[in-house]
Amino acid sequence: MLSIDDAVTRLASSIQTVDETETVSISEANQRVLAIDVIAPISLPPFTSSAMDGYAIKTSDEDRIGSSFRVVGTSLAGSPYQDDEAIDQTAVRIFTGAVVPDWADTVVLQEDVDRKAETITLKETPTPGDNIRLIGHDVQKDDLLLAKGTRLGAFEVSWLAACGVASVNVIRRIRVAIFSTGDELQDPGQPLSEGQIYDSNRTALKELLQEKPVDIADMGRLPDDPVVIEEAIAETSEKVDLIVTSGGVSVGDADYVRLVIEKLGELTFWNVALKPGKPIAVGQIENALFLGLPGNPVSTIVTYLLFVARAIDALSGIEALVPLTVPAVLTSTLRHSRRRREYQRGILSRSGSNLHVRSTGDQSSNRLATLAAANCLIVVPEIADSVDEGEIVDVLLLPEEAYHVVNNPSESLSSDIS
Ligand code: AMP
Ligand code: MG
Repeated sequence: MLSIDDAVTRLASSIQTVDETETVSISEANQRVLAIDVIAPISLPPFTSSAMDGYAIKTSDEDRIGSSFRVVGTSLAGSPYQDDEAIDQTAVRIFTGAVVPDWADTVVLQEDVDRKAETITLKETPTPGDNIRLIGHDVQKDDLLLAKGTRLGAFEVSWLAACGVASVNVIRRIRVAIFSTGDELQDPGQPLSEGQIYDSNRTALKELLQEKPVDIADMGRLPDDPVVIEEAIAETSEKVDLIVTSGGVSVGDADYVRLVIEKLGELTFWNVALKPGKPIAVGQIENALFLGLPGNPVSTIVTYLLFVARAIDALSGIEALVPLTVPAVLTSTLRHSRRRREYQRGILSRSGSNLHVRSTGDQSSNRLATLAAANCLIVVPEIADSVDEGEIVDVLLLPEEAYHVVNNPSESLSSDIS
């Protein structure tokens, strides 16, 4: 069976970045991916400015405690001091963000001077450069601001805004079609007939995809009928970059999805040494990448996190990153048999300066309740047998959907510091 790492590598090498781009305003750019390098159009700060409220002076060797300066004017943020002549022993009253006069090299803090009428006297010896933000201290004009392939989030977009960049060239949104498969599925809101269950996978996928730069086509439910599946997939593969299905990829009599991929296109791999989610089927049909996820709801979500999310990143030109895991002390024994890497739903919490993690209980892959209760996945390696309480395990943090903070207030950071 293919290892997860080999599967991820094979998937990545089968993907070509979408090369169509568009220019969007930065207010539309959140989550999008830069198609070209962005070069700084200005230096930031654009002028040498004060970092504090105080007095701008020119220091010299004699400027020690007790030296006096005559206050000749004021520089406010947005309203610079105009008379820019260097005069010995003069000071300009200055505020945070205001232009520092050319001749000044230091801002002394207002609390470090005595002011009487228009004269200030230093209470501290100033150091040249103190409390001054030099022009270009954040970025210099014409330097690289953000590189091609950068995913834009709130931090990057505000960085662009700070440099006056109003629009950016980005990779167009990835077109993703989602299908559920299974004769047993019904839509929420409808009554269930004997043997039916509600389709939760399409909802899960649509919600998870909200964090990605995609246009989602919800293609509904397909019956366990190879002809209908084939027709729907063939038609859709001409219109999208990525088809994601759930269900029908295993070896049951009603599992037709993998056979349809083989008929219409090429199966890149099937069956990965993963739990939950082993029978994932990856292929290519025409221009569309195909990810056939297993039907059990937890398997669908775990394979989304491991494969679909990364595939969309690769299609959008984001460099592949190894997801961050953190070490934690296991507080419940985990049962596991070798050969497959398992991602067990867990609850991560803090105890003093340690992270503790425990399983959410029965790990059956249909039990969405245990995923709703989890805030992490505990990674149990392929080579491990059961893992005992007290051992250190790797923990994969989950996206915002799982944002249940578990922290004992008496064990917070402040108690460590004191
Ligand atoms: P399959 O991979 O088609 O054999 O499905 C495995 C299990 O997942 C079965 O119990 C299905 O009923 C269930 N399942 C398949 N698709 C969905 C879905 N869209 N929502 C919820 N459960 C599903
Ligand atoms: Mg099925």
